[in-house]
Amino acid sequence: MKRRPPRVMAHTIQPETPHTDWCARDHRCGLNVHTSPDMYTDGPLGARGVLNRVHTETSDYAEIRIRIPISAREPIARKQLGVALHLIRELLYAVSAVRPAALDHARTDRPALDRRPAA
Ligand SMILES: [Zn+2]
Repeated sequence: MKRRPPRVMAHTIQPETPHTDWCARDHRCGLNVHTSPDMYTDGPLGARGVLNRVHTETSDYAEIRIRIPISAREPIARKQLGVALHLIRELLYAVSAVRPAALDHARTDRPALDRRPAA
């Protein structure tokens, strides 16, 4: 009877990343993930949005949880969910449209566009 070779567990050692200036420095942080304290915004009827800034080894992103009370009446609830999904899509595009070039006034100043040709 042939014996199987013992399984060898691969150990991946990932380097620890340091805390950021803005991370919570508590249970929300891990070895390679750093998370900000919760940032809240409240809306009508108990609605609440919670945003966290997250830094990982490979990316930075915002994590958002939103609680929106909706109607118990199905047609209204469906309409509300549709509006919510539409606005989430708008949010994704609006945030991604803010790029370094849009914030760099030196690059957005384009004096040549205001010049008039010599007569
Ligand atoms: Zn941290």
